[in-house]
Amino acid sequence: MGRRYAFFSNQTIKMRFQLWIGLVVVLFAFSIIVTFYLIEKKDRLHEAENQLKQVVTLQSLYIERWNKEKLDVIKRFAVSDNAKFHRIGELRREFQDYERVGSEFALISFVEEDGYIRSETDPTLKVYVGDRDYFKYAMDKKNFISGVVYSKDTGMPIITFSVPVLGDQNEFRGAVVGMIRLEMLNKLMKQLSFGETGEVYVLDRDGNVVTASVDASNDPTFAQTQMTSEIIQRAKTKSNDDSAYVGFHGDIVYGQYKWASGKSWIIVGEITQKEVFESLNQLSITIIIISLIALIVSIFAAITIASRIEKPIRYLLRATKIIQNGNYDYQISPEKIKMAPIELRELCDTFNLMSEKLKTNITLLEHSALVDQLTEIHNRRYMMLEGNEQLLANIAANQTCSVMMLDIDHFKTINDTYGHLVGDRVLQHVASLLKNNVGGDTIVARYGGEEFILLVLRRNAQESVSLAEDLRRRLMDEPYVNGELTVKLTASIGVAEYSQTLEYGTMILEDMVSRADHALYRAKSGGRNRVELDR
Ligand code: GH3
Ligand code: MG
Ligand code: MG
Repeated sequence: MGRRYAFFSNQTIKMRFQLWIGLVVVLFAFSIIVTFYLIEKKDRLHEAENQLKQVVTLQSLYIERWNKEKLDVIKRFAVSDNAKFHRIGELRREFQDYERVGSEFALISFVEEDGYIRSETDPTLKVYVGDRDYFKYAMDKKNFISGVVYSKDTGMPIITFSVPVLGDQNEFRGAVVGMIRLEMLNKLMKQLSFGETGEVYVLDRDGNVVTASVDASNDPTFAQTQMTSEIIQRAKTKSNDDSAYVGFHGDIVYGQYKWASGKSWIIVGEITQKEVFESLNQLSITIIIISLIALIVSIFAAITIASRIEKPIRYLLRATKIIQNGNYDYQISPEKIKMAPIELRELCDTFNLMSEKLKTNITLLEHSALVDQLTEIHNRRYMMLEGNEQLLANIAANQTCSVMMLDIDHFKTINDTYGHLVGDRVLQHVASLLKNNVGGDTIVARYGGEEFILLVLRRNAQESVSLAEDLRRRLMDEPYVNGELTVKLTASIGVAEYSQTLEYGTMILEDMVSRADHALYRAKSGGRNRVELDR
């Protein structure tokens, strides 16, 4: 397995669940946020642009109307006969009457065709304004609305409206000029701020602030400021660029412009980028928080699901180890896994059934490994394992003991005479007779063929020999009987007592068996049906 897979291959179920569910949630949330953000950002921008356009259009309409109203007032005076015929005194009274009823004009004057404003009473008292734009426009027989101009008398920023006075032959006869203090427009502009940072500026051609919706407030000197932000360049070049730029206050803003008053003024609407995206950012943060909560919840869910799966698997793992250690009938408690998924509960149930069966089979196997199949007494293997254990314990307890080897005499003849089946029955008969006539301290086993081995514990040679004699006599006295059939039999027995010094082999039992075997041989060669003690 490659190194980069090692990280994954070492993960538990729980870790994998957490990893993958976490990953899915994060990716899901991330893609939603990104998609949402991109779509919404475009929308918000569009919305802001439309709002700016609306505000600017509205303002330009408003300003145009305002300008037209003011210009109409001046026009009314300019077309009057008093103006036409230079009736200055009459004209001035008309102006004063108009100003008295509460006009917005600070001053309305009549300029004669030579560029002078003259006093009614003293014609030598005159002010020359012939160099002013408004006069030059009037000379060209054009109406004029100025940018911000500073009053020669008061120094206050003012806007000038001028209309030429024309004679009957359409000749230039002077101009009526009205001046409005900027604050009048400022008052109206204040109503035009929008949102938190939305502002509207009215600029003259050169970018001088005529008035603004926010900062203008009561500070007329604001009007002296020149706006240098990019929007002026855009307006001058009629650019359609909608991108954000550094606004008048130094913030990044979005802006829209519109020319008004016959290219005299530029109306600019601006709103900060921050405000345009503020609600979007808040919404995004909310989504991120919700995603985080979802992540935490799903991680918890992952942990819960994983532990529902992991726990029974751990129980199974533990149970298999217990079985491995030989505790074959170990069962997983159904109580512990009741919350596990069905498949795992089934797996545990099957495991429990399996371990039950295993125990039965192992027990059976163990039994058949140590019990002789024909006679159902212990076999030679049992004697060499369990018999040896008991022998050692017996010796350890400072007790003596003996081994008997018993061989049926001329068993071949029994087989030959009655057949193997009867031979088998005779073997079973001998086995049960031996088993039933030795005490609890004696282990009886079939050693092989028609030979039996007996381990007589806590008995010395003499006691063992008398037990052997007793058994020999019983075998002779109690033949195998089956209906009509009676099979008489005898057996020879060799007896050997425990001795500390080993004559044969390395094991005590081996040595005793060999010596008993030798004694048996002597019993056979001595004429059979007898007991011989090893000496
Ligand atoms: P001896 O008195 O010298 O012991 O003579 P014997 O015939 O008993 O001894 P031998 O070793 O010549 O024969 C033993 C016979 O026991 C040979 C074998 O066929 C028979 N035998 C061994 N195991 C079984 C068995 O499980 N069932 C039967 N029916 N016969 C068996
Ligand atoms: Mg034999
Ligand atoms: Mg024999």
